[in-house]
Amino acid sequence: MAEIFTRLTGKKARDIKVLADFVSIFCRERHQNMVKNAFPIRDDRLREVLDAREPRLCQECNKLLNHGIAKLMLCPHDPKPMCKKCTTHCYAPGYRERVREVMKFSGLHLIKHGRVDMLLHYFF
Ligand SMILES: [Zn+2]
Repeated sequence: MAEIFTRLTGKKARDIKVLADFVSIFCRERHQNMVKNAFPIRDDRLREVLDAREPRLCQECNKLLNHGIAKLMLCPHDPKPMCKKCTTHCYAPGYRERVREVMKFSGLHLIKHGRVDMLLHYFF
């Protein structure tokens, strides 16, 4: 996977952080009773991108985050456009819907908890 990471840009690094944060919120709130494991970070550059983040997620969310990160890394567009405006449908069937559900849930969660500052930080 190492050569993929050489194409990492600031925008993609930020997208990966957002994805990791949003999946973490989703899993924490929605999968409270699931067994959580540390998200496996196998690459030093990914470790750098994730900063101090050490997501602990259920198996399903670990898979989703892993898949999402791989797709971001492999996205042929730079900067990555919004997925719904993109012509390359790269998410495997079912994943895109799950990523959207996670983004929607965690976005609303942040708004409900008055963390609009975090959203602004993410999207602007
Ligand atoms: Zn989960």
